Amino acid sequence: MTNKLKYFIGNWKMFGDFNSLKIISKINNFSYIHRKACRKKIVICVPNLLIHYFNNKLKSKHISLGAQNCHHNDGDGAFTGGTNASMLKKAGSEYVILGHSENRSAGETNSIIKKKIFSALNNNLNVIFCIGETLKEKKKKRTFYVLKKQIKDSLPKKYDINKIIIAYEPVWSIGTNKLPKMNDLKKTIQFIKKEYKKIFRTKIDPKVLYGGSVNNKNIHLFSMIYQIDGFLIGGASRSSKKFIDILKNYYK
Ligand code: PEP
Repeated sequence: MTNKLKYFIGNWKMFGDFNSLKIISKINNFSYIHRKACRKKIVICVPNLLIHYFNNKLKSKHISLGAQNCHHNDGDGAFTGGTNASMLKKAGSEYVILGHSENRSAGETNSIIKKKIFSALNNNLNVIFCIGETLKEKKKKRTFYVLKKQIKDSLPKKYDINKIIIAYEPVWSIGTNKLPKMNDLKKTIQFIKKEYKKIFRTKIDPKVLYGGSVNNKNIHLFSMIYQIDGFLIGGASRSSKKFIDILKNYYK
């Protein structure tokens, strides 16, 4: 098994309450117990309401907490219901998911995402930047075109490469139990890394995760693609057992 650092990032979406501290605590304990066994980084992105609470309740933290979105305005303002990056940071968030397809489908554009990324970085948050094609785009063989455009139009030209993680999430795979063919996935991850390096004229590989219907039964399939730097996990991250089993099976 690889010794490369791998990310396991949970996206709870609009689920969870104060009792979910049990889930976070179990994952935190697991991370502590296995701290030397493998090079992993666990981040759980929870509803905003829970960030500060979990952050205070965990006595010693062996995971990081993240949010799932932020407002595009970099600072305070008259935006009813909004939460900006600075507020998330102060609440204890270290990461924020931006560009998730569930938000893109509600109207979030590449240019709005760019503003959000700018604000998140400005407030010292790490960004988990989601990209991915819809089924229609896949069928029309537009996947690479879409991914390139999402990267080009949303990433600020100058930023600290270590602060952005790209999550490739084919929209048709999210919550559907449908996985890409492993060979296609490998080519797509390679494409993202290559294009990214071309666009930003860098020799440094970006971190690229896969997300979409990852679970404890299929995780072993991905270990053959060493180019994958980790996983963004939705449904299966809301159960400590399922999430921990993903890690156990990945490193088996
Ligand atoms: C997600 O929402 O980012 C995701 C990957 O969901 P799921 O794992 O449930 O497909």
